[in-house]
Amino acid sequence: MALITTAPRGTQDLLPEDSYKNQWLENTLKQAAADFGFSEIRFPTFEHTELFNRSVGDTTDIVQKEMYTFEDKGGRSITLRPEGTASAVRLLLENGLDKGLLPVKAYYLIPCFRYEKPQAGRMREFHQFGVEFFGSATPKADCEIIALADECIRRLGIKGISLYINSIGCPECRAEYRKALVEYFKKREDKLCKLCRERLNTNPLRVLDCKDPDCDGDVDGAPVITDYLCDDCAAHFGQVKALLTESGVNFTVNPRIVRGLDYYNGIVFEFVSSDIGAQGTVCGGGRYDGLAAQMGGSPICGLGFGMGLERLLLLLEKQGLMPESAGRARVFIGSMGEKAEKEAFRLALALRRKGVAAEYDSVGRSVKAQMKYADKIGAEYTVVLGDSELEAGSCRVKRMSDGETKDVALGALADFFA
Ligand code: ATP
Ligand code: MG
Repeated sequence: MALITTAPRGTQDLLPEDSYKNQWLENTLKQAAADFGFSEIRFPTFEHTELFNRSVGDTTDIVQKEMYTFEDKGGRSITLRPEGTASAVRLLLENGLDKGLLPVKAYYLIPCFRYEKPQAGRMREFHQFGVEFFGSATPKADCEIIALADECIRRLGIKGISLYINSIGCPECRAEYRKALVEYFKKREDKLCKLCRERLNTNPLRVLDCKDPDCDGDVDGAPVITDYLCDDCAAHFGQVKALLTESGVNFTVNPRIVRGLDYYNGIVFEFVSSDIGAQGTVCGGGRYDGLAAQMGGSPICGLGFGMGLERLLLLLEKQGLMPESAGRARVFIGSMGEKAEKEAFRLALALRRKGVAAEYDSVGRSVKAQMKYADKIGAEYTVVLGDSELEAGSCRVKRMSDGETKDVALGALADFFA
């Protein structure tokens, strides 16, 4: 029986009294994206499994261990999306947006699913604000994406977040770097965790990103990618750094940032907070120029980021930045007696039709209890209707903050608030 009264591990309910927080967060992010010229896209919650295998990468933790994959009744392999970029690129190619007006600038707010060990800031169903920018290879595009993430964090008011940027180069310079890394880690192979020993053959950059505390690869002494960048990649990285500096976006170059997905190349970045424990990365992103072609489409370049909403919410609560709830109703219309009850319903409806949030007593409480309720739901004004008010055709409106009252004709009440 417990199964039907307990949500699956790593998932979270959103309660009526808290949903305004998520809405405020989401609206702030959407508005920032809109101000940067990005439009919303939506795509399905599940995709063909192959999409993620081919884009996120066969050797990544996500594909190897974390995907919710199942066979549907038609025998197809389906996966609940672990991230948004793969779907965004599919949407772009399938709808021919890559052949239309460029650049394409899109954002999305989506639930994502990863079978991970649940802990603070790490869920099995979590939510991402994702942004993608297609069709520009210039350093300006990298800076625009990074500046948008920076602007989101500024608007939320979150303090103490560091932006780390790096370039992981193009396939050519990365090949040289891979060799150097493998050579370095081979010397201390016995100290690496089992997974990292495998990574040496499949994806050695990922050893830099290992989160196993017993894995002792002496990552600090490992060669850094920035020493291996080709002239083009180094010049691109240099221009990004210069433009960010000129634009007042603070950053630190961190050559250890490699990101956990296969599709990245060139600029990668993370926004990290030291305020919410081990899961401090609130945003990660970068360039993925080869991805569309790798998926069988045109060689259109792209870049973007994903921001974890749960981690942002933790930070907003921790730093006391969450705004107060606006309250459920501006006006509460109380009543005493059967006639007045009906009038309260009718009046509440008239107010609502004018766009004024109004409530009335729908459960049959005493007037005293109705006023307590009005206070709890944060009503700004209250009115109490009884026989005498109905006879006089007017009521006394009370402002809850200071008790000030005003007599208003019943017929004029809706206009009084509208
Ligand atoms: P991490 O290193 O924390 O595992 P990641 O590199 O796997 O993160 P991305 O795939 O880049 O994360 O996802 C973008 C953002 O989504 C992360 O920076 C983080 O804020 C958030 N995120 C990722 N996985 C989870 C999760 N399981 N629960 C909550 N938020 C998550
Ligand atoms: Mg992860």
